[in-house]
Amino acid sequence: MKKNVNIGTASVDQGQKGKGLIPAGELAGRLAVTTPVLVINGAKEGPTLWINAAIQGDEVTGIEVARQVFETVEPRNLLGSIVLTPLSNITAFCSRSQNSPIDGLDLAYHCFPGNPNGKFSERTAYTLFNLIKTNADYLIDLHCTTTDSIPYTNFSVSSTFKPEISQAIKEMAKAFGAGTICQISSQTATRGFEGSLDVVCCQEGIPAIMGELGGRRLVSRHHASIGVRGIFNLMKSLEMMQGKPEIPEKQLLVTDRSAIYANRGGILYTEIEPGKMTSKNTIIARIQNEFFEDIEIVRAPENCFALGVDLYPAVNMGDRICILATKWKELT
Ligand SMILES: [Zn+2]
Repeated sequence: MKKNVNIGTASVDQGQKGKGLIPAGELAGRLAVTTPVLVINGAKEGPTLWINAAIQGDEVTGIEVARQVFETVEPRNLLGSIVLTPLSNITAFCSRSQNSPIDGLDLAYHCFPGNPNGKFSERTAYTLFNLIKTNADYLIDLHCTTTDSIPYTNFSVSSTFKPEISQAIKEMAKAFGAGTICQISSQTATRGFEGSLDVVCCQEGIPAIMGELGGRRLVSRHHASIGVRGIFNLMKSLEMMQGKPEIPEKQLLVTDRSAIYANRGGILYTEIEPGKMTSKNTIIARIQNEFFEDIEIVRAPENCFALGVDLYPAVNMGDRICILATKWKELT
């Protein structure tokens, strides 16, 4: 029997591609906000992989990844379905900001599973998450950090996940093949742990990870290609397409990390490169005053490597300067 995929206004027959819109809210100027959805419904049966992007509106690399995946994957070669929501936070995307300008909320980390009676972003989350729940077997949420960073994937660790979900997300993160994988627990999260899309999906029984592709508010071919390769790797490992995943020989599993915050306000000069091993006490960054005099020297608290560093010179007291991987092991 043929299996249609129906999401929002998209209704896509088996073996076809299609597009549609998901209602996301209504604004004071009588503007309807909609989230675009693209579907590749494979010719053969298989799982549904949901690819979400730009949930923080200025993390744009995933949009290009989604475009390339939608253009490249042919339904006749696909087992199962791909659902793409490349612009999942339209109001934040329009304002080039992380959070929605309508209510100031961060859709990525604070709003799921959503609230049909809540604020604008909570209602958007509610509609989106209900569609994910009823359609997705796996999900990847594509981010790209707003710092200069290496590509990595995040998977969460929580006692609220069933063991098979915990196992599945670790395998997904490995299969994506970014080279570095962060295991995030509520202790090591530099973000809100509850209310983030991947965590809520896992609690619902849908294995979900985050891809941090790098790119810093810019779409580069390099970072997009890492994302596209990662998606194809995931599809191969889930037996949605033929071929062997192209995984780096060596991948690192980061089990502990720490964020370093500025104690002074001023001009930031970062002295380390993401991904490079950094010994304890090495200077990570200097903060200078308006006369180019050092007012804070930030040193590595232990042997580490940076996942991402901020290169923007304006730094306020309390701003994050970098995220460091402080404990890791090689994956075999
Ligand atoms: Zn993000």
